[in-house]
Amino acid sequence: MPLLSLPDFEEAALETLTAFGAIPSLSPMFDADWVEHGHLDAAAELLASWARARKIANFDVAIHRLPSRTPTLVVTVDSTGGEGATVVLYGHLDKQPPLGDWSEGLDPFVPVRRGDRLFARGVSDDGYAFFSALSAIEAMEANGVAHGRCVVLIEASEESGSPDLKAYLDELADHLGDVELLICLDSGALTYDRLWVTTSLRGMVNIEVTVQVLEQGQHSGSVSGIVPSSFRVLRQLLDRVEDATTGEVLVEEMWATIPAADTKSAHDIAQEFGDVIARELPMVEGVTLMGSSAEERLLRRTWYPTLSVIGMGGLPSPDIAGNVLRPFTTAVLSFRLPPSIDSSVAGAAVERMLTIDPPSNARVTVKVDSSGDGWVAPTFAPWLEPALEQASLDAFGRSVGFTGEGGSIPFLASLAKRYPGVQFVATGVGGPQSNAHAIDEMLDLPMAVGVTNAVITVLAAHAKQ
Ligand SMILES: [Zn+2]
Repeated sequence: MPLLSLPDFEEAALETLTAFGAIPSLSPMFDADWVEHGHLDAAAELLASWARARKIANFDVAIHRLPSRTPTLVVTVDSTGGEGATVVLYGHLDKQPPLGDWSEGLDPFVPVRRGDRLFARGVSDDGYAFFSALSAIEAMEANGVAHGRCVVLIEASEESGSPDLKAYLDELADHLGDVELLICLDSGALTYDRLWVTTSLRGMVNIEVTVQVLEQGQHSGSVSGIVPSSFRVLRQLLDRVEDATTGEVLVEEMWATIPAADTKSAHDIAQEFGDVIARELPMVEGVTLMGSSAEERLLRRTWYPTLSVIGMGGLPSPDIAGNVLRPFTTAVLSFRLPPSIDSSVAGAAVERMLTIDPPSNARVTVKVDSSGDGWVAPTFAPWLEPALEQASLDAFGRSVGFTGEGGSIPFLASLAKRYPGVQFVATGVGGPQSNAHAIDEMLDLPMAVGVTNAVITVLAAHAKQ
């Protein structure tokens, strides 16, 4: 199989990928004025114009814009290998916010290259995907390798939970036609030495809980000891859903049986790589991790429900904190759910647990901000499993790896429902230190090339079967 080299990829894609890294195309959830700011549109235009310059025989580049929705970029490439169903290659162009100050010399929107790594927000999550997908197809055509009909679909609301995707999938249903294979280029990798295929993703449910005790704040000297603290009531409520000592989630509806195959795969990965999850963490010295072994940590990350408090309201920052018994405290609870759990059932259970019989009769309001089901990869078709192995061997010289991911890609679950029987390949470049959703996001360029080459092998195998 003719494959792409790093210099090939650099020559074709790096300049535009770097320009993409400079655009603060935050997902709508993080930029309420995204329409006025125009960054999502600018990113879509930039990618579209790069696409139009590809040397691909018959293809069409279109930016779809439904009213009050983020744009969706759709590149449709005619088959060079006869009739057949469609392959959808998925990525997204919206980004997470900077999430704090980046390290010395780095900036979320001023791309910097160090060695073979490109640092900027959104380059690995998920800007590279578009370049990988089209570079793969372009390389196939240049070398006379047949591919089926491909639709590269780049959405712009993924980091907000893909609220706009459904409307576009409805609009594009006829255009997509009979979808046979979906390649999602927005997932993770455990290492950079092989192709990693994602076998499961966790679901999530984000819940905002507010505890109110006063109509307005009062001098804490005059009322403390009499008026219950909203923070204390919140602590009591949190104790209902999480064991404060162990961190174990106490919501029964959030627990699933771990499939034997996943336990085995966690065991195998731990054997080969040791404590691969723990190793890369920027832990403060001396902090004890959860989980008792590498294997257990792999499972905890992929099949356990967890709670992270990701935001709080009603609390002044420390430098302006006055002696006030505050009227309310709000917390945003982010639950990750095992892949097979129904997120709406889980969300309803938390809502019930937090609102029944509130401590001190405080006013407790609970709102589910967003939720999404996890995903378990369907069994690979007989042609696909060997194709993935071959893809990893071609691109990396090593066997493919299969692993669950701790993160969520909500649209995969909805796509799986919409297209039952479709084959899925979820993969990505999000390996160690790629820092998606954190400071210092980085794209490992050789990994991007490796994933691109893996796409070539899979598309070629698909066209042949
Ligand atoms: Zn992403």
